[in-house]
Order: sequence, then structure tokens, then C-alpha cells
Amino acid sequence: MPASTHKTLKIDGSTGEGGGQIIRTALSLSMLTGTPIEITNIRAGRAKPGLMRQHLMCVQASQQISNASVSGAHLGSTAFTFTPSTVQAGDYNFDIGSAGSTSLVLQTLLPALLFANTDERSQSTVTIKGGTHNPLAPTTDFLTEAFVPALAKLGMQIDIELQQVGFAPIGGGTIKATITPFMRRANTLPFKLTERGELVNIALVASVLNLEYDICKRELASAKATLIEAGIDEALITTRGNKLHGIGEGNTCYAKVTREIADTQNHKEYHSEMFTLLGEKRSSAEKIGSRLSGLVKRYVFDTDALVDEYLTDQLLLPLAVAGGGDFTAHVVSEHTKTQAWLIQQFLPVEITLKVIDEQKTLVQVAC
Ligand code: ATP
Repeated sequence: MPASTHKTLKIDGSTGEGGGQIIRTALSLSMLTGTPIEITNIRAGRAKPGLMRQHLMCVQASQQISNASVSGAHLGSTAFTFTPSTVQAGDYNFDIGSAGSTSLVLQTLLPALLFANTDERSQSTVTIKGGTHNPLAPTTDFLTEAFVPALAKLGMQIDIELQQVGFAPIGGGTIKATITPFMRRANTLPFKLTERGELVNIALVASVLNLEYDICKRELASAKATLIEAGIDEALITTRGNKLHGIGEGNTCYAKVTREIADTQNHKEYHSEMFTLLGEKRSSAEKIGSRLSGLVKRYVFDTDALVDEYLTDQLLLPLAVAGGGDFTAHVVSEHTKTQAWLIQQFLPVEITLKVIDEQKTLVQVAC
């Protein structure tokens, strides 16, 4: 394997948020730039520091797609080194071996595979087994309904298929992503998600896996009633219940809030934010429904920013590698600040977080 000509970048994993995101972003950027990394103090900000199964899978999967040499990465380790070689497009299969988040593993690999040295026709596929609907991580629904469409605005083409759903603690889910190599096109419009536009739809979707379908109905009824009570036009709200197939059991619901952000002669442009919840044993379906509508109300009434908390931290890296852009963010989390710091360690980009008011920040990524 050819030794990298770059100097090793040392990353203190306790910086800022001090969580798993630092590892994943560092791996993505290491592969993308060919920079060897040494990460210490891994997840020092968490109650149980060190690499958990999902993070270890991220290291191993990254190792495989970039033919990297790795030392010190094992379950619980608090430091490792990673020296990538060439990223190879291809068909990959990974099994997390737990209910760890398939979305987070996929997001680690995406930037490298989007830029894998190949021609536009040779797509990569990545099939990952594990959890598809995890707490504190994007669900597959979040990826397909919000993350992928936002990346499409940058000209990135990714298709994600939920082959089998998987909830904690059993997991057993599978996603398959098809990734088309990214080619920057001269006619791509600048990425600008700053103006809110008009609210056109709130799609409420509730799903159960091997649980009573009635749970969906109650969640949807409660979420819808709370939104109408808050003054949202009933005509904008749609509801749908789903019976999922797979092993184990689980319940999830989401609200997809879509706004029309541009209306030119040729086309209308939309932006969707996703709010997702998972059912909990001690919470009634009505309570979950009303919590879901609470997230929607906060976004609809408390801010006139367009992008909400989670998409904000998840958009920074794609923007930094695809030519930059601007958007307004509702919540700037520690994740986002740490992400901005880390990206600037690897790439010659400037990420500015300009606070407009308490509920709105202008995020600018300049390359
Ligand atoms: P740790 O266990 O160290 O917290 P982790 O690897 O599970 O680490 P984080 O570092 O917390 O993960 O990163 C979580 C990622 O999941 C972030 O990118 C965040 O935007 C995303 N995320 C968390 N909750 C949601 C949600 N409800 N919807 C969409 N994305 C989410």
C-alpha cells in the first residue's frame, strides 16, 4: 500500500461535543483528503467513552473502502490511528452486529464514495445491517425524506432503500444505498436555503413493527389534533399509518414539514424538514403524538430559519466538499460547532455561524 505523503493530523476527540460524530467526520475527511489521522480521547464527553460497536464499524468500513492501515481500533479503545490509501468504488456489505445505527455508518462512507476516483457510470452500493430507527441518530426515514433531497440540491445523487426495518435492542434491519460519483456541474445553482417560503404540507406518518396498528392511529390523531389546535390549517396536514415487516418490535412516527422555497417560471423548489420520534414503553401513543407536534410547532412558530437542528450539523460536510453555500439554521448545537471546527482542520474552507437572533443563525460555508 503506498504510504500517504500527508502529515498525520492529531485530533483530540474530547473537543467540543466530545462524541461519536468527531470520529465519523474525521474518518470521512481523512479518506477524502488522504490525510492520516490519530484520534485520542475518543468520546471523552460520554458516560461510557471509547469506541462502541457502531463507531468501530465506521472505522472498519472506512478501512475497507479506502484500503487503510489502522492501529488501536477495538471495542472500547480511546485512541486509534488511520492511514487511508485510495478509495475504491464498489459493492460493499457491512454488518454492525448490533442495533447500532446504519445511517451513521453510511454517512461516514458517503463523502469518500461520492468522490471515489471513477467515472460517472460506475456507482457504488453499500448494504448495511443493524438498526434503522435509533434514538439520537437519523432514522432511514430522515435520510430518505430530508438528508438525501438536501444533498440532491448540491448535485449529489444517492438512493437509499430500506430493505428491512430494525429497532433496538434487536436491530436486524438492512439499508442499501446506491451512490453515483459526484461531478460538479457548471450549471448547478448555488446552494441557498435562507428564505423560508410558504408552508405547503405537513405529512404525519406513524409505523409499527409487530405491534398493534391502533398505536399508529392514536399517534396520528393526537399529533394532528394538537397541530390544528395550534392554528395550523387542517388542509395542509396529511396522515398515513404503516405496518412494517421485520424481526423484533417497534414504533416510530415522523412529521415531514415541506415548504415551497422558490417558484420560478420553470419550476417550484421545495425544502423538507423531518422530525422523528420512536415509541417508548412508558409513553402512551397520545403522548408521543403530542410530542411530535410539539417539535413541529417549535419549528413552524418559533423561528423563521429554514433548516432545523439535525440537518444543520449534517449539511456542513457535504457543503464543504461540494463548493459551499448558505442556509439559515434554527438551532446551532454543540455538534454543529464541533463539526465546523473539525472540517476546517482538514479543508481550506471557512464556516461562519452568524447569529441573527435567538432562533436564527446564518450558516455560511465558503470554499
Ligand atoms: P455518542 O454516543 O458519542 O453521542 P453517536 O455516535 O451516537 O455518539 P453523535 O455524535 O451524538 O452520535 O451524533 C449523532 C448524529 O445523529 C448527529 O449528526 C445528529 O444530527 C444526528 N441526530 C441525532 N438525533 C437525530 C434526530 N432525531 N433526527 C435526525 N438526526 C439526528
